[in-house]
Amino acid sequence: MRRISIFGSTGSIGENTVDLISRAPEEYDVVALSGGRNINRLAEQAIALDADVAITCFFELKHKLAERLAGSGIEVAAGPDAIVEAARRPADWVMSAIVGAAGLPPGLAALEQGATLALANKESLVCAGELLMRTARDNQAQILPVDSEHSAVAQALVGEDLAAVERVILTASGGAFRDWPLEKLASATPAQASSHPNWDMGQRITVDSASMFNKSLEVIETREFFGLEPDQIEVVVHPQSMIHALVGFNDGALMAHVGPPDMRHAIGYALHYPERRSLPVERLDLVKIGKLEFREPCETRWPALRLAREVMRIRGLAGTVFNAAKEQALDSFLAGQIRFTDMAPVVEEVLHAFERDNALKCDRLRLDHVTETDHLARIRAADVAAHLNTDA
Ligand code: NDP
Repeated sequence: MRRISIFGSTGSIGENTVDLISRAPEEYDVVALSGGRNINRLAEQAIALDADVAITCFFELKHKLAERLAGSGIEVAAGPDAIVEAARRPADWVMSAIVGAAGLPPGLAALEQGATLALANKESLVCAGELLMRTARDNQAQILPVDSEHSAVAQALVGEDLAAVERVILTASGGAFRDWPLEKLASATPAQASSHPNWDMGQRITVDSASMFNKSLEVIETREFFGLEPDQIEVVVHPQSMIHALVGFNDGALMAHVGPPDMRHAIGYALHYPERRSLPVERLDLVKIGKLEFREPCETRWPALRLAREVMRIRGLAGTVFNAAKEQALDSFLAGQIRFTDMAPVVEEVLHAFERDNALKCDRLRLDHVTETDHLARIRAADVAAHLNTDA
C-alpha cells in the first residue's frame, strides 16, 4: 500500500485528489489530511479514508474537529506547526494543495523526509523556488507538477532532451474579464471576478485568473521548475482551455497537450506517475469543439504578466515579495478595500520599494529569509493598499 498525505484536502484540488483516492481505497494508506475552516468536510474525509491524523490550520477549530472525530481513533491536531509535523511523518506521496505561501513549510518538510511531492501549490515555487528545488535534490526526492500547464509541459518532455527545447507556451483562458472593455475593469466586483468561464477552482485562484496573476505565477513556476530562461517562456490567450501548454523544439515541432479542463487529469498523472492509468475525465470530441482560438495577451489589461518578467529579472527574494504582495492585494480586493485594477499597482510599488531598499538580494534562500520577507511584504502591501483607499 502507498502511504499518502493530502495537505489542503478540503479545497478544490484536495477534493479532486480525495475523489481519485476514494476510487481505489485498497491501494492507499492515508497518513494525514489537512484543511482550514471546513471542519465537517475534513472530518468526513478523515473517516472515509481512515486517516491517521487530521489537522486544521486554525487553533480555535481544534475542539470542533475533535468533537467530529470523537471515537474514530483518528488523531486531531491544529495550527501551522502541526501541519509541518504531519508532513514529516513518513509518506510515499504527498499532495501539496494548500493555497498561498502557507503551503511552503509542509512542502519542504515532505521533501526532507524523501516523499514524492505532487505540487499544486505554485506559490511555493514562486516564493522559494531555489530552496524547494535544492531541498528535493538534497533529499533525492521528486517533485511532480500538478498545475495543469506544468503537468502538460512535463508530459510533452517525456523522453526529450531539455537542451532541444526552444520555448514553452503556457495557455491562459483570460478569466472572467477577458472580453470586458478596459474602462469597465475598475468597477469589477469580487463576485464577478470569482466566476471562471472554464474551470471550477478555489476562489483565490479564480480571481487570480481574471487578473492573470495566476498566469504570472505560472510563468515564474515554469522558470523555477524546468530551469528555462525567461525569454523562452511565452503566454498565449486560448479561450477554450483545451490546450494546456505547448513545448517548442529546435526542429520547429510544437508538442501540445490537449485535454478537458478537469484537474483530475493532472492530479491522476502525478498520482500514478510514471504509469498512465484510466481516469474518470471527459474524452474530447474534436469535431464538436470545432475550432480553437489563440490571442496575444494584452499587458494593459493584464499588467501582472509584465511584473512576472520583472521578478525573473531581479530574482533573489523578488518572488517572495511578489507573491506576498499579491496575496495581500487580493485580500484587500476581496474585502472591498481596493479596486480590481489596484492590485497590480500595489504589487508593483511593493516590489520596487524592496528593490530600492536593496532587500531582494539572496543567493541561497532559507525558510527564515522567506518567512521574514513574506511578512514584511504583506505589511508594506497592506499599507500601500490602505493609502490607495484613502486617496480614492
Ligand atoms: P482552495 O481555496 O479551494 O483550497 C485551499 C485549501 O487550503 C483548503 O483545504 C483550505 O482549507 C486550506 N487552507 C486555506 N488557508 C490555509 C492556510 N493558511 N494554512 C493551511 N491550509 C489552508 O484552493 P485550490 O484547491 O483552488 O488551490 C490550492 C492550490 O493549488 C493553490 O496553490 C492553487 O494555486 C493551486 N492550483 C489550483 C488549481 C485548481 O483547479 N483549483 C489548479 C492549479 C493549481 P478550508 O477550505 O477548509 O478552509
